[in-house]
Amino acid sequence: MNNTNVKPRVLRFLIRLNCWLVTLSCPMLLFGQSYDLLIKGGHVIDPKNGRNGVMDVAVAGDTIALVAADIPAGDAKKVIDANGLLVTPGLINLHTHVFVGSEAGQFANGISSVSPDDFTFRSGITTVVDAGTSGWRSFPLFKKQVIDQVQTRVLAFLNIAGAGMVGSPGEQDLQDMNAWLTSTRIRDYSDVIVGVKIGHYLGTDWTPFDRALEAASLAGVPLFVECHLPEYTLEDQLKKMRPGDIITHTYEQVSERMPITDEQGKVRPFVLEARKRGILFDVGHGGAGFWFNQAIPAVQQGFYPDAFGMDLHRFSMNSGMKDMLNIMSKFLAMGMPLDEIIPAATWRAAEAIKRDDLGNLDVGAPADIAVLRIREGDFGFMDSGRETLKGTRKFEAEITVRAGRIVWDLNGISGKWIDTPAN
Ligand SMILES: [Zn+2]
Repeated sequence: MNNTNVKPRVLRFLIRLNCWLVTLSCPMLLFGQSYDLLIKGGHVIDPKNGRNGVMDVAVAGDTIALVAADIPAGDAKKVIDANGLLVTPGLINLHTHVFVGSEAGQFANGISSVSPDDFTFRSGITTVVDAGTSGWRSFPLFKKQVIDQVQTRVLAFLNIAGAGMVGSPGEQDLQDMNAWLTSTRIRDYSDVIVGVKIGHYLGTDWTPFDRALEAASLAGVPLFVECHLPEYTLEDQLKKMRPGDIITHTYEQVSERMPITDEQGKVRPFVLEARKRGILFDVGHGGAGFWFNQAIPAVQQGFYPDAFGMDLHRFSMNSGMKDMLNIMSKFLAMGMPLDEIIPAATWRAAEAIKRDDLGNLDVGAPADIAVLRIREGDFGFMDSGRETLKGTRKFEAEITVRAGRIVWDLNGISGKWIDTPAN
């Protein structure tokens, strides 16, 4: 026996040994079809793991089992052909109002909010954050009535106003803005509550803002700043915010808040300074919060959003906003690169709420996946001032997977194909 024969035999033995060990450690492999779902041949963009190329994604139960090139189709019970499609972590939306209930004229437990599953999966979203529709006092009802009932993962920023978004006078009542009780509620529900929200305060007193900051500091979570704070200047708000805090309605132009660009269309120096300090900027499109005359110059200067918050509610959903993919398509049309858009819709949004278990395709992570198509054609995208931008590409959600289940399938590509009847 010479050396040239020994080496391959040793090698073959080692390979076989490795196969036995893998088989023993994964009993499912003994029976073939180790995966419940295999999304095959799509362009995977998984920013956390630096993946950006054609790969397969295998799911077992409710978790990601493997992301690799050429996973055999025979190993899976169901195979989806994602050729020509993008495969990303399930999208995360940081700004929604989903504490839906029966109260007329209000967002908290009211008809001005919307039910999450009605609007999420059809645009690739698997996680939403409710932006302060509930406060420490009303959160248990929100959890029981909505969070525990729906398939979408619903997280929450807790309003510093104890009752949440109940309108005036409730949201103006300093007596009901308690930093300690807010932080206690956050700690008690730390798996669901990810931050504190301030918004809708009409006075000049900084007490509500300071208490919201105090609650966020006590609980170790970010502060989410909405607009509707007409007596606070934008510069002062940004100065008070800490690195990691989030401001929304970034590209708005409304009377109650100074826009981020000046009269020459330049992003104001104190806004750039805030970003440098680590303040995060969410879109917060809503009905009135997104204007091309702000967004176009800002994007041209490289001032991209950190997240694509919809500000979803009953009054914004049928406006220029429409859905998260429409917002992402707007930024694509304005020139934001795809490699910046997908992170802001997934991993960066997860990081902003300190949830590194979400927004990625780690093996062992929840199997929340979006399969997106970029359609080509002639499209129009409308802003809050009814100005329309032309675009040639538009995101569309083909498949959405939440916790391993296919919860949205636009063209039935995961179904069993039948013959088209002859005419
Ligand atoms: Zn909002």
